Amino acid sequence: MAKTVGVVMTSRIAAGLIEEGKVVGDLLYFPAESTSPSHHEGGFDQELIETPSDAIAAAICDMICRLVPDTASVGSVGIALPGIVREGVVEDSPNLQQMKGARIRSMIEELLAARGCKATVTVMNDADAEAAGLAATRGQLDKLTRVWTIGNGIGFGRFPYTGGPWEGGHTVVSLDPKENYCACGGKGHLEGITGHRAMRLRFLDMEPDEIFAAARKGDKRCRDFVELWHRALAAATATQIHLEGPGRFYFTGRDIQRLDLPLLKEYLWESVKMSPFQSYTVEVYPPDPTISVIGAGTVALHTTL
Ligand SMILES: [Zn+2]
Repeated sequence: MAKTVGVVMTSRIAAGLIEEGKVVGDLLYFPAESTSPSHHEGGFDQELIETPSDAIAAAICDMICRLVPDTASVGSVGIALPGIVREGVVEDSPNLQQMKGARIRSMIEELLAARGCKATVTVMNDADAEAAGLAATRGQLDKLTRVWTIGNGIGFGRFPYTGGPWEGGHTVVSLDPKENYCACGGKGHLEGITGHRAMRLRFLDMEPDEIFAAARKGDKRCRDFVELWHRALAAATATQIHLEGPGRFYFTGRDIQRLDLPLLKEYLWESVKMSPFQSYTVEVYPPDPTISVIGAGTVALHTTL
């Protein structure tokens, strides 16, 4: 049977061989050893940030060939990365600037072909891979699964995959013109309130972890902000519910420990009042690269992009 490989760019690049919704063997990483993940650079490994896009494509190809030495047996490769991806081209990637404009699908297909591998390569947003991985590992590929990833930026992933950018992190959640901390430059955006980078801009004198710690100790400015942080995430989730209906929402990501789920539920309850929409569920789970690697492989198998 044709083999499937999932590849995800998180702080490093992780790759794994996927069989029946599970990773077989160990994940491979590039760089092999974590060097200096920096919060200031979005949590990406410094070596990854400095690697040009053609070298990244070559590293991904090497990992696929190491995972499956009989390269001709690879049928599908799914590659997930942060940014806006359309038809195999990275249209924008604020965190990995060198990837902007990269025709990553054809680059990798050509490198693989040179090594005797005719696999179909599918490129997707990393949050969509997360949603697909969750659907696959929970046995709910037939259900709508939506995931928010909380980190430097705010990712929104959805499975099954449908066309459209689905840039949920840029959902407008405030009409206050002073809300202008989103990296994209847009006003009132969710990420401009809840993203790590945006919080550093808002509180020039405090790091995000210090803001949340001070809020727990009762500091009014920080407490008010933490309330706003949760209201913003609830507002964006409520908007999703009103657009696509209730269903399962998951929350994860590098900074997921900042989320107070009961508080989020309280604000969500205040914003979703029509009874047909109140059957939604919300759940938190810890970040695990295995899930998005499985998801990348799942999307490659189930979707034609
Ligand atoms: Zn934005």
